[in-house]
Amino acid sequence: TCNQLLASSLDRDQSLLSPKTSKEIEKLPALSQARHLNLQEFQSKKLMADGGINVQLFEVVSTNQEAASVASKLKVDEYVIKAQILAGGRGKGTFDTGFKGGVHLTKEPSKVKSLVDSMLGHKLTTKQTPKGGVQVTKVMVAEAMDIERETYFAILMDRAHGGPVMVGSPKGGMDIEEVAEKEPDAIFKVPIDIFDGVQQDQVMFMAEKLGFTGEKQAVAAEQMRRLYDLFLRVDATQVEINPLGETPDGRVVCFDAKINFDDNAEFRQKPVFAMDDMAESDPREVEASKHNLNYIGMDGNIACLVNGAGLAMATMDIIHLHGGSPANFLDVGGGVTEEQVFNAFKLLTQDKQVKAILVNIFGGIVNCATIANGITSACKSINLSLPLIVRLEGTNVEEAKKILAESNLPISSATDLDDAAKKAVASL
Ligand code: ADP
Ligand code: MG
Repeated sequence: TCNQLLASSLDRDQSLLSPKTSKEIEKLPALSQARHLNLQEFQSKKLMADGGINVQLFEVVSTNQEAASVASKLKVDEYVIKAQILAGGRGKGTFDTGFKGGVHLTKEPSKVKSLVDSMLGHKLTTKQTPKGGVQVTKVMVAEAMDIERETYFAILMDRAHGGPVMVGSPKGGMDIEEVAEKEPDAIFKVPIDIFDGVQQDQVMFMAEKLGFTGEKQAVAAEQMRRLYDLFLRVDATQVEINPLGETPDGRVVCFDAKINFDDNAEFRQKPVFAMDDMAESDPREVEASKHNLNYIGMDGNIACLVNGAGLAMATMDIIHLHGGSPANFLDVGGGVTEEQVFNAFKLLTQDKQVKAILVNIFGGIVNCATIANGITSACKSINLSLPLIVRLEGTNVEEAKKILAESNLPISSATDLDDAAKKAVASL
């Protein structure tokens, strides 16, 4: 993705954490709780078309019945059939049936149905999907066009530049990460002053670098300007067009689209966020977000319930140190309620991967008694059978310990973080 293109300028701070924890932290969205909503290509293209940006005609199909009628609905010379999943690299992907390619071209209306059928309901694996691939529930049937040249164009919010940056390359369509690595000179970056807005000479410069000549230079520049307007209007963190293509008759068209949105803007981007169907999200994370819990699923088997991101990281690190591996990162935060603790517990215990639970709370703003009450009521209602190790420290800890002791639940209490992690690993 284009974020990787700029990663070189965003060198991670020297980490004090173990390499294993650091690696897991890479999975945390920039260590903030931002998730950066992703939309499917067809949803992004709808927003783009509304903003006067050139995209092909398209229909979206989600059932085999619709597949039968879509070709006659869309009157075009050639069709392109595209699996809708959030990951890129679909063109070179493979389905679990062995069928190759998440993007297909055909001139035969009669072939559209069978191509849709070979995608719908099957799992597509690309180099950006998780191992088992992603279930395809929607397929785009669009107008295909001759593409004479494929370029790469993106706009993203970049920390190093303190604002939006346009990134472009004349070598688009293919693997842009590879271009960045092997031919860094073929990647162009133009920072934009967010107060002044994008300037005509900036988009003309980019269009020229992308190889648009004659009248096409101004046409491409105008598309870039409209993409920038869209970027601002929808509070995007990234708009990536790969390929931004040129047709033999001189049109400049966005053939692919990937837009990420700033989650902090949800309150003023209601229609955009309403398009999120969560179909590809980790179900554990979807459930957690309903209860305002900061939760990220991991591959291990020790569930962690912690307050504060720093303590969560330290807990994960010390679990690794003692030979265990965390099943998640769950930060209940400072203003946690008993009900949230209850829901957090339910979430952790419903996860089949979890074999032990470690609660590590340092009560500052958090009242340990709140945590203890949440834990005991959850344990009673769900009949907890997993080993539970609790380390509480800080505000109201004596009362909390009393609540836990009087509950008669099989809770193993720990004196400090080290002790807690050792006990959690030993309990497996
Ligand atoms: P991905 O990046 O996930 O592989 P793309 O949408 O970029 O998916 O499609 C892959 C390739 O398919 C593009 O680089 C382009 O060559 C071709 N393609 C995509 N859309 C069209 C279209 N409407 N007409 C012709 N070719 C297309
Ligand atoms: Mg693409």
